[in-house]
Amino acid sequence: MCFGSVETPIHVLRECPFASKVWDEVFNWCGLKFALNVPIKLFLSSTLQLSVAIELRNALYSISLATLWFIWLARNEHIFGSTRLAVDKVVDLIKFHTFGWLKNRAHLGNLA
Ligand SMILES: [Zn+2]
Repeated sequence: MCFGSVETPIHVLRECPFASKVWDEVFNWCGLKFALNVPIKLFLSSTLQLSVAIELRNALYSISLATLWFIWLARNEHIFGSTRLAVDKVVDLIKFHTFGWLKNRAHLGNLA
């Protein structure tokens, strides 16, 4: 999306300045201080090993997957569509969809 580097999956999903800003905003929303400097697969598996309540662990995993998905969608929309989504719009989509998923599908009905 920045056209400044070879578009590898790791660049698109993590290292691109756009993706990096999305991850920073998502981590900030979750109250986490992460430097996403490990392979994405390792990062995802590490979220499932956090010493927190299983509901929170599953929520963080879901949010991480949603972040990857919406960065990918934003990239495709930018390359193949006509819209360039801003970082805050992508973060809003992540928040909106993960909230719905977690509230309705992960039996977290008390989620506010
Ligand atoms: Zn880039």
